[in-house]
Amino acid sequence: MTYVVALTGGIGSGKTTVANRFSERGVPVIDADKIAREVVAPGSAALQQIVAHFGDQALLPEGSLDRSWLRQQIFADPQQKTWLNNLLHPLIQQRTQEMIAAVTTDWCLWVVPLLVENNLHLKADRVLVIDVDEETQISRTMARDRITRQQAEAILIAQASRQSRLAVADDIIDNTGGPAEQEQDINTLFRLYQRLALVKKGSVS
Ligand code: ATP
Repeated sequence: MTYVVALTGGIGSGKTTVANRFSERGVPVIDADKIAREVVAPGSAALQQIVAHFGDQALLPEGSLDRSWLRQQIFADPQQKTWLNNLLHPLIQQRTQEMIAAVTTDWCLWVVPLLVENNLHLKADRVLVIDVDEETQISRTMARDRITRQQAEAILIAQASRQSRLAVADDIIDNTGGPAEQEQDINTLFRLYQRLALVKKGSVS
C-alpha cells in the first residue's frame, strides 16, 4: 500500500500551488474536491438520491447538481447536512480508497481542504499543512477570485481555525514567502516522504 501524505490548508493558503509542484516531480495527486464532484456527476446514483430527497430544485437547467443551492440548504439546516454527509461521505471514502489502491508509486499526495472539518487526518500516514496568516489568505483569495474582503472573510470564518489545522500537522510549509522558499521546503519534504515511504515498505529502517 502506498504511503499517503494528506495536504491541507485554509482557503487561499496555496494547496493547489504546492500540490502542482509535487505533481511536477512525478508524485500522484489525489484531489478530494474532484472526487466529491465525481460522486454526484450527472447519471450517478448519488445525484438521483439527492433529487429524490430535495426535489428538482437541486438541479441546474442542464441537469448537473446546483452545488450553491444545495450548500445554502444544508447551511440553514443541520439535519439536511447530516443526511447529505451520510450519503456522500461513504461514497467519497470508497472512491478515495480505490484511487489510493491504484497508485503504483511509493507515496502519493492526497489533497483534502476539509481534512480537519471532516476529521480525516487519521486516514493518512502523514499530514502536511500549508500555512499562511489570515491576512495573506484573505488578500490572495480576493485577488484570485475577484471577491470582496467581506466575502473572503465569511469563507474563512466558516472553515476550521488555523490553530486546529496546525494541531494535526506533522509538517508545515510556511507559504507566506515567495516561490524560492516554497521550492526549498518542497525539495526537503519530497526527500523526507520518499524515505518515510521506503521505511513503511520495509525497504529501509
Ligand atoms: P483554495 O482553498 O481556495 O482552493 P488553495 O489553498 O488551493 O486555495 P492556491 O489557489 O494554490 O490556494 O493559492 C491561492 C492564491 O495565492 C493563488 O492565486 C496563488 O497563485 C497564490 N499563491 C500561492 N502561493 C503563493 C506564494 N508563495 N506567494 C505568492 N502567491 C502565492
